[in-house]
Amino acid sequence: MTVTVRFAPSPTGNIHIGNARTALINWIYARQNNGTFILRYDDTDRVRSKQEYAEGIARDLAWLGITPDRVERQSERMQAHEAATRKLKDAGLLYACYESADELDRQRKRLAMRGLPPVYNRAGLRYSKEELAGFSAEGRTPHWRFLLPNHKGDPFKPERTEVHWDDLVRGPQTVDLASLSDPVLVREDGSWLYTLPSVVDDIDMGVTHIIRGDDHVTNTGVQIAIFEAMGADAPGFGHHNLLTTASGEGLSKRLGSLSLQALADDHYEPMAVASLATLIGTSGPVEAIASMDELVSHFDIASVTKSAAKFDVGELDKLNARLVHEMPFDAVAGRLAAAGVGGGETFWNAVRGNIDKVEEAAFWWQRVESATPQIDAEDAEFIQTAAELLPDEPWNETTWSVWTASVKEKTGRKGKSLFMPLRKALTGEGHGPELAALLPFIGRERTLARLS
Ligand code: GLU
Repeated sequence: MTVTVRFAPSPTGNIHIGNARTALINWIYARQNNGTFILRYDDTDRVRSKQEYAEGIARDLAWLGITPDRVERQSERMQAHEAATRKLKDAGLLYACYESADELDRQRKRLAMRGLPPVYNRAGLRYSKEELAGFSAEGRTPHWRFLLPNHKGDPFKPERTEVHWDDLVRGPQTVDLASLSDPVLVREDGSWLYTLPSVVDDIDMGVTHIIRGDDHVTNTGVQIAIFEAMGADAPGFGHHNLLTTASGEGLSKRLGSLSLQALADDHYEPMAVASLATLIGTSGPVEAIASMDELVSHFDIASVTKSAAKFDVGELDKLNARLVHEMPFDAVAGRLAAAGVGGGETFWNAVRGNIDKVEEAAFWWQRVESATPQIDAEDAEFIQTAAELLPDEPWNETTWSVWTASVKEKTGRKGKSLFMPLRKALTGEGHGPELAALLPFIGRERTLARLS
């Protein structure tokens, strides 16, 4: 059977680094198993789902290096969801309930006061004909609950009923269906909650493994029961830990700064984001992995740990810098050209070790082309001497050492007091790439102008 996984975001906002983690783990699992990765838009919420968000999700995934093998939309599959709803109703497994949210809330509070778990009392199964007629006369429409198979014939006598699965991440898992309320599958307005359409689509799309955040562990118990009620075998499951902000809060779609779009706009390398989003919260080290192929061979889903992992932008900065420091010219040539950076491979190799983001190369190229010299009063004479000793062209990467050796001899200066005034005069900056590498690009004419 071909391994088939799906990443199933609701297109109701921009996806963030935590969603990227789910997408990446699914993608890597598919690639490791020669499988299929489906991008499934869970867009049954017609009001909040937006086409622009769906497009944004596809764009963000492409930026990360994920190109789905198939794209599906739940909104195009309503007939299948309706058929499943009918099937469950016909089997007596989906029943109408009329409680308002307030009533349900009061019931839960009453149970809590008696120290009982907040499990729904299945009152919907007990309505008399008169009550039902009354609801309908009042114009009330029901919501519909799935009758969990946690009893032996009498739903008012639920018994411990264990659902088991061997989780790809968490190992053997157990959910007791008697500890849960019958889930609402259909709202009063006839729209579906996510639970049933997801199962129906997973069946029809041949999904073999559902890999998602561990906030869905309890859902899985319910969904396995629905798979069985639909006459299907449940797929495999893997629940990865969730990411939180550095201060421990959960990530939400409203957390703009950790959206993939914001990280892309901040010029982070997609592989830095992918490396961190995947390897954080695993038993292995978080390393900067240079390509998706390498990440695919490097990552093991079983290494994901159970506790939440903190996403730290400082860690992302470090990974990004590590990738940039090692990045071959071929990998950036197009981007450098687009940013107007000249100097080819020699310039890139000179600056890459000093920058944390590729776009900073443009800053140093600008400093080659023009700089505001900084010359402290006490260095003025020294700088003038250095200007007089400037070698003739042609210049190459040895020019700097030839020049500074003669300046050293003439002025007696050495170390920082020799190099720093020259650096500040030539680039206007107190730090930066090797001057030996920059000097041939600055050239004699500009160097002389900056020293005078
Ligand atoms: N749309 C659901 C969510 O974003 C999908 C969960 C799942 O993967 O089943 O939470």
